[in-house]
Amino acid sequence: MSVLVVGSVGYDTVSTPVASGKDLLGGSATYFSLSASRFTEVSLVAVVGKDFREAHLKLLGDHKVDTSGLEVAEGKTFRWSGRYRHEDVNSRDTLDTQLNVFAGFKPKLRPEHRRKDYLFLANIDPVLQMEVLGQMERRPKLVGMDTMNFWIEGKRDALAKVIGSVDVVFMDEGEVRSYARESNLVKAARAIMGQGPKTVVAKRGEHGVLLVTKDSVFAAPAFPLDTVVDPTGAGDTFAGGFMGYLASTGNLSHRGFRRATVLGSVMGSFVVESLSADRLLSLDYDALQSRFRAFTALTSFEELKAGEGLPWRGRNGRFEKGTK
Ligand code: AMP
Repeated sequence: MSVLVVGSVGYDTVSTPVASGKDLLGGSATYFSLSASRFTEVSLVAVVGKDFREAHLKLLGDHKVDTSGLEVAEGKTFRWSGRYRHEDVNSRDTLDTQLNVFAGFKPKLRPEHRRKDYLFLANIDPVLQMEVLGQMERRPKLVGMDTMNFWIEGKRDALAKVIGSVDVVFMDEGEVRSYARESNLVKAARAIMGQGPKTVVAKRGEHGVLLVTKDSVFAAPAFPLDTVVDPTGAGDTFAGGFMGYLASTGNLSHRGFRRATVLGSVMGSFVVESLSADRLLSLDYDALQSRFRAFTALTSFEELKAGEGLPWRGRNGRFEKGTK
């Protein structure tokens, strides 16, 4: 199975406590594609300007991303610039967003793209997200979406329509709270689910992710790293691993979603080790396997066996249950 993604492709100017760079290859759909393409076929729908470098087009092709839906339009490529704070690498300030060619973009899906079973509406104008969803020949098996404050604040109504039409919503925890206007994260996620989606993935930066469904909550930590060079794209890379795994295996069960969450977290832990998507480009199978195993070890603990109890000392000071 393969995934279709619509989102931004652009150039980022980034400054973090340990690194900085200008006009780095970025964009939500770029990170998503480079991550998902390790697990399944990916087709990208986006627009770039005439200034988009040939080398970057080649790079996407070299990583087996289908760029036949990447339009090159008259004008300048999307640009975003952000700065991460020294005291808290989790929080960033957007310094500038220039939509450029995205402002007039009207996606027109190729016939073969309209039949994809997995669709990811990466962070971009919700009007574009809806246009892409509306052009699908049939409802895909799974539709995921991501967004950010820029659209929550600027295009709330259009965003609500998209949210009401998808299966899985990925958002930063602050965005979950701000969109739902509810400070408790689980309640906020459930309020979003009340609008249609069956699953909300709340991304919590260095605190990991929370996967919330109607009757369960699954938590995955972020993989502990010595150095985070550049957190940009971690969320999109997470979503790429998550959707890529589901599309590759077709396992849409509870367990499949949990494994997808861990694989997404593992992919996210790689991308933050370098500026732009560089670490994704050099990633190999052995590194992925070994970090997935290390992640499993990180979160594994002894469960209670049938009939086994925890030690419990009652108010009378006596041990009443379990082992002592
Ligand atoms: P993330 O760190 O996962 O939230 O994603 C960062 C990427 O999102 C950067 O590479 C930006 O180019 C892209 N981006 C930032 N703002 C927007 C926006 N308003 N619409 C679409 N993409 C954006």
